[in-house]
Amino acid sequence: MGVGDEMKDQLSFLGGFKLTLQHMTRPRVTTMYPEEKKPKQPRQHGRHVLNRYEDGMEKCIGCELCAGVCPADCIYVRGLDNPPDHPVSPGERYGYVYEINYLRCIHCDLCVEACPTEAITESKLFEFSFTNRSDAIYTKAELLVDDDGMPQKLPWEDWREGDDMMTSGWMRATSPSGSAAYEGEVQWSGELGYGTRAPEGGQSGRRNDELTGTKSLRETLEAHLLTEDIPLAHRGMQGRVWRARIGAARHKKKMEATRTRMKELRAARKAAKAQGQA
Ligand code: SF4
Ligand code: SF4
Repeated sequence: MGVGDEMKDQLSFLGGFKLTLQHMTRPRVTTMYPEEKKPKQPRQHGRHVLNRYEDGMEKCIGCELCAGVCPADCIYVRGLDNPPDHPVSPGERYGYVYEINYLRCIHCDLCVEACPTEAITESKLFEFSFTNRSDAIYTKAELLVDDDGMPQKLPWEDWREGDDMMTSGWMRATSPSGSAAYEGEVQWSGELGYGTRAPEGGQSGRRNDELTGTKSLRETLEAHLLTEDIPLAHRGMQGRVWRARIGAARHKKKMEATRTRMKELRAARKAAKAQGQA
């Protein structure tokens, strides 16, 4: 073995740092949870809400279709005739009792599909926990949106910006019956606090991804696609530049969100301390 080979052999450990060095220049993927959270997908199914019409009336008519279709048998509804002098819903009846057992719910959204009045939809909130079985059963008072149309933010739930937006937006993608001819056609009523929700983009050109938060699966899952399925602009050096740009913009957004959240936490702690001293 020559001196050169010996040197090469002795310095071979440097090869071990190659991967580390490669990753040092890439955007950071670690998320400082729970201060910082990754954006939720537009079709994510979270905690339910019972909606109101724009005039404040409840959308639920107590028909029990949601309870009938639920595969986990976790919805309990009882309807009652609307009082003629102060009706709760525009129908003959309204949902007098409405409960969802979250120890059973599998967030399949079949209840959302079955509902004839779009009364029940799912928000994006999934961070909530219970310490006993009865707390896991959400009652109508907890599920029904407030007088401004906003979901009830219960003390044990961790709501973040956007969790109330695009609730069950997927069901509006190709309504009705999945026909592409109806894409982009609004065929549902407005909601108190939000107005008429925008239709989610589907397969046609009639879409507004910015408005609806729709993100193409190809963009989300590009790392898992075969090279021939990746758009030309996202391959090779061009693709690397594109990814670096996207990564930098995402990183900047995350840093800003973390900073704002930390600032809020510090202010809350300071206020609590000041309150304790007073
Ligand atoms: S999301 Fe599925 S499991 Fe949960 S309440 Fe609705 S139908 Fe039942
Ligand atoms: S949420 Fe919809 S499906 Fe369920 S009882 Fe109310 S109106 Fe009927």
